[in-house]
Amino acid sequence: MTAPPVEKVPKELISADRIHIRVGELGAAITADHAGDPEIVVVCVLKGGFIFAADLVRHIGRPCRIEFIRASSYGNRHTSAGRVALGHDIDFDIAGCHVLLVEDIVDTGQTISRVTDELRKRAPASLKICCLLDKPSARKVTVGIDYTGFTIPGHFVVGYGLDDAEKYRELPFIGIATT
Ligand code: 5GP
Repeated sequence: MTAPPVEKVPKELISADRIHIRVGELGAAITADHAGDPEIVVVCVLKGGFIFAADLVRHIGRPCRIEFIRASSYGNRHTSAGRVALGHDIDFDIAGCHVLLVEDIVDTGQTISRVTDELRKRAPASLKICCLLDKPSARKVTVGIDYTGFTIPGHFVVGYGLDDAEKYRELPFIGIATT
């Protein structure tokens, strides 16, 4: 009888407690910066941003409208495909709105650049970027990130919404994939 394959557990890089504290700090900074704005349109980039966005909006002390946009460049590989496909789009006119784009991780910068180019065409009053993780070592496109959770080295990371071929999104911490 052959033994079942051993599941490799990602090695913890950022604990759930550290994430919780940092998300609270980001929420406080966003709240302060939007003190005079009646509403923030939070645009979550799917799929990886869904847990971060869900936690973050609960730390923003201003009314939020939540929208989702789908962007994918990775497929199932660990390096960027270089082409960014936009899938599901927001179903709301953001003209004149204060928009906060929430992304899991900025790596080459191509995804966030493509999404912001698209959203800017729609004439929002303001457009800010909040990413949980920044991997500047792989950057190919210059992007101005307004709020960063953690700057990390060039590892492929999983957990807290980020996947490896659709696995590990449910982990409460950020870990380094060991496959
Ligand atoms: P970029 O376009 O900046 O190269 O890549 C951004 C997208 O690639 C992210 O939204 C994410 O989906 C994916 N990505 C980049 N680095 C990682 C990583 O370390 N782990 C995971 N799971 N996805 C990543």
